[in-house]
Amino acid sequence: MYTTTTIKHHRTEFLDSLACESGRCYSKTVSLVRKTHAKKGFWLSKNDVQKYLRHRGYALHSQSIQACVDSYFNALDSYFQVRRFNPDAKPPKRTPKHFKVRWKSTAIRYKNGKLILSNGRGRAPIVLEIEEIETKPRYVEMYFRRGCYYFAIVDKKDVPRKKETGIAVAVDMGEIHPIVSHDGAKTIIYNGRFIRSIIQYRNKVNARFQEKMDRCEKRSKRWYKLLKAKRKTLDKINAQLKDAEHKITTRFISDCEKAKTDTIVIGDLKGIRDRAKFSKKSNQKIHQWAFSRIAQKICYKAEMAGICVIFESEAYTSQTCPKCANRKKPTNRNYTCTHCGFKYHRDGVGAINLWSKVSGYLFYPVVGELAAPLGVKFHWHLSRSG
Ligand SMILES: [Zn+2]
Repeated sequence: MYTTTTIKHHRTEFLDSLACESGRCYSKTVSLVRKTHAKKGFWLSKNDVQKYLRHRGYALHSQSIQACVDSYFNALDSYFQVRRFNPDAKPPKRTPKHFKVRWKSTAIRYKNGKLILSNGRGRAPIVLEIEEIETKPRYVEMYFRRGCYYFAIVDKKDVPRKKETGIAVAVDMGEIHPIVSHDGAKTIIYNGRFIRSIIQYRNKVNARFQEKMDRCEKRSKRWYKLLKAKRKTLDKINAQLKDAEHKITTRFISDCEKAKTDTIVIGDLKGIRDRAKFSKKSNQKIHQWAFSRIAQKICYKAEMAGICVIFESEAYTSQTCPKCANRKKPTNRNYTCTHCGFKYHRDGVGAINLWSKVSGYLFYPVVGELAAPLGVKFHWHLSRSG
C-alpha cells in the first residue's frame, strides 16, 4: 500500500532548471527512440538509451535520468499493448519542455527533520523540511501545478490483513447508484442522485462555454479568456465530484468495517465501454460514469483497512432472478421475475447475484424473503457514519 505526503514549494529558478533538465532528458529519449525506429526499423531497448544518456551528461542525479527513461518506456509498453487491438494507435510522442523529476531512494537522505534530495555529484541538493518519518521514502517526485512546485513523498507500507471472518460484501456499481452492496442479508443502496446532478451540471457548463468559444475566433484574446474561465469552473466542479466520491467510498468502507467484512467483491465490468453501444445520450452517460474512479477509491481504502478486494465477472448478474435463476432483462427500476414473481430493486439484484456467485449459492433459491434495501442518501457529512 502506497502512502503519499505532498509538500508545496514556491517556484524558484533552481527548481525550474531541474524540471527543464528533466524535460530535455525526456525529449531526448523520445526523439532517440523514434528516430531510430524511423531510420532503422527497430525499437531501442531501455538499456541502450540509458547507456547513451549517461554520456551526454544531464544536471540530474543518474537515478532521476533513469526515471525519465522509465516513464517513456512505460508509455511505449502500453502502446505495444494497445497496438494489438487498435491498429490506429500512435506511439507516445509528447515532448514537453518541463517534465516531472523523480528521486529514487538511493538519491534520498534523511537527517534531523530534513529530507535531502541529491542531484548528483557537484550539484546542490534540494533540502525539504518535513515531519518525523520512520522509514526512508520509496521515491520523491516533483511536479508543477499552477505556479507552484509540489513534492510527492511516496512510501510503501504493509497493512496487516484483517482476521478472516468469512463475511463478504458484494458491490454492484450501477449507472444510477454508484454503490449497491449486499452481504447475504442486507442490501444497502448508496444514493447516486447527487453525483449525477454534479455530472449533469458539468456537462451543461461545458456545453455553454463551448458554444461561446465556437462563436469567436480561435486563439483570439476572447477565446483564451473563455478557455481560462471554463477551466476554472470545471476544476471547481470536478473537485466537488471528487469530494462526493470520497465521502461515499469512505462511508462504504466504514460500514464494511463495522460489519466485520473481510472481503469486498466488485463486479468486473471490463469491456463495458466497448460493449455499451446504446443511443448517443446513454453512451455519454456510460462514458462519464464514475465507475473506475469509485472502484479505485474502494480498492485503496479497503487496502488501508486491511480488507481484501476481489473482482468477479458481472456477466448476467443483473438479469438473473436470485430466486429461480430465470433470466430476464429488467426493463425499469424494479426487477420483476416473470417466472416466479420475485420482485426487487433492480440494482439490488445485481449485488445479490454477485454475492451468491462468490459465496457459492448461485442458482439456489434465496432462503426466506429479502429485506427491502436500505438507502444511504448523500450529505456533506456522509463519511462520518453514525
Ligand atoms: Zn424468479
